[in-house]
Amino acid sequence: MNRSKQLSALTNTSQWDIVIIGGGATGAGAALDAASRGYKTLLIEQYDFAKGTSSKSTKLVHGGVRYLQQGNIKLVLEALRERGRLLKNAPHLTSNQAFIVPVFSTWEKIFYAIGLKMYGLLAGKLSLGKTSILNKQQVVELLPSIKQDKLVGGIQYYDGQFDDSNLCIEILGTAVKHGATVINYCKAIGFEKEAKKINGVKIADTITNQEYNIKAKAVINATGAFTNQVMEMDDKAHHDFVTASQGIHFIINKEFFKGTTAMMIPKTDDGRVLFAVPWQDKVIVGTTDTPINEAKIEPLPLAEEIEFILNHINRYGTETITRANINSVYVGLRPLIKVKSKAKTSALSRDHAIHISDARLITITGGKWTTYRKMASDAVNNATFIGKLKQQKCITENLQINLTDQKQEVINNLIKQDATLSEKIHPNYTYTKAEIIYAVNNQMAFNVEDVLARRIRLLFLDARVAMQVAPLVASVMASTLNKNQDWAEQQISSFNALASNYILS
Ligand SMILES: Cc1cc2nc3c(=O)[nH]c(=O)nc-3n(C[C@H](O)[C@H](O)[C@H](O)COP(=O)(O)OP(=O)(O)OC[C@H]3O[C@@H](n4cnc5c(N)ncnc54)[C@H](O)[C@@H]3O)c2cc1C
Repeated sequence: MNRSKQLSALTNTSQWDIVIIGGGATGAGAALDAASRGYKTLLIEQYDFAKGTSSKSTKLVHGGVRYLQQGNIKLVLEALRERGRLLKNAPHLTSNQAFIVPVFSTWEKIFYAIGLKMYGLLAGKLSLGKTSILNKQQVVELLPSIKQDKLVGGIQYYDGQFDDSNLCIEILGTAVKHGATVINYCKAIGFEKEAKKINGVKIADTITNQEYNIKAKAVINATGAFTNQVMEMDDKAHHDFVTASQGIHFIINKEFFKGTTAMMIPKTDDGRVLFAVPWQDKVIVGTTDTPINEAKIEPLPLAEEIEFILNHINRYGTETITRANINSVYVGLRPLIKVKSKAKTSALSRDHAIHISDARLITITGGKWTTYRKMASDAVNNATFIGKLKQQKCITENLQINLTDQKQEVINNLIKQDATLSEKIHPNYTYTKAEIIYAVNNQMAFNVEDVLARRIRLLFLDARVAMQVAPLVASVMASTLNKNQDWAEQQISSFNALASNYILS
């Protein structure tokens, strides 16, 4: 993926079959689906790819045990099917993860064993492992940091895990391989209409400030928590389609939660689930569900959300975790389908929904990362109908998403030309200088943040370390992008301003 190549495709194309607004999981999935069916496809993202919710998930490819508890079997079945497909189609970015639900009474043991056995059975052939009932000793072996008093045993089950932003970027890269044009830092700022029907999008390149009017047969709005804003650009009198709720996670070192098995706390004080999941040699703990009024691209954690998670995790662990032990805090916004009732956001459906406006804007939202492929297929089916496109079958069920071989080859060639590029950017992490150059030249990383947050995940793994390496990353990027010292300094300072929000004082 190369931005100037993508921009020249933008200026050289007189009309697109399908334009997708939003470069998160849903938009990226739609771009791959549309391009692989042979449609002339353009995707635009106002910031960097996956900067929204799609880099800030719990990083689980899951059916959603919680939705089973809510009785939404259809959603669980669909997600389990998609979980199986994703693990098969992108094995290098996904993995099988064992979880334990610790139990503190025989009654709990029976209750969760029945639920989790059912979860395993629903997966059928796509099951990732057998659900089993463990005694206290077995739980302590697998979760060495668990408090043992009153512990009766646990239920072990399996789900998937992944690297969210890198999957998004690889889906986009695969879409480009199939002919799509994808551009980051490009914002939809209005619609063009003929006879009151959308036939084009006004977009602005936020790096050059250049504006373009592009023609499109069908337009998909895949803007997550920003859905209502894009709907408003189409129709000032629109009804809000989504409501947002924020979820925070924090990341700690493994010494505070040892082992390789994840823990699911099945019932928090507000009736949800909470996870502690090993990820990239650290542990992710979360999440919360807090309704918010205004969608922001970098929402901030609330003090009470941090306290809530600390309070719950410390009830289960032998190591007391404090704010000082937290490497990084990140916050994502769930785009939830708005309903008229006053239901709590945690009770709102995680199903996805499609809305088609009078002017034929196709809006797709809700759902989860795990079901992005199915959401994309539904959105593109609607787009083919709206755009009167020649019908082509969706082929993503078995389509491989894998640019890793190509990545390794490019990196090896870089190192062959300049051996210093194999140097690590920090002694405690494997990331090299060559990976930064790869991110710039092949993955459209433009800012230091794009590299440190979404290509290599240091901002999430340890925000302080990310700040330490920002000057080195800025300098490697400056020479790759032909930028001067002022650019590098401005990059470091804006990265530090962002990263400071990931650190608890
Ligand atoms: C706390 C939390 C934990 C989660 N954990 C999981 C999990 O473990 N597993 C799972 O399956 N799901 C999980 N989810 C759900 C999942 O992350 C989301 O459903 C998914 O990422 C939403 O993707 P999206 O593309 O719809 O939205 P986003 O990723 O937010 O993408 C929308 C994009 O649209 C862009 N945009 C907005 N306006 C414009 C415009 N005018 N022009 C151009 N671009 C624009 C935004 O910048 C943004 O990048 C979690 C969600 C949250 C909040």
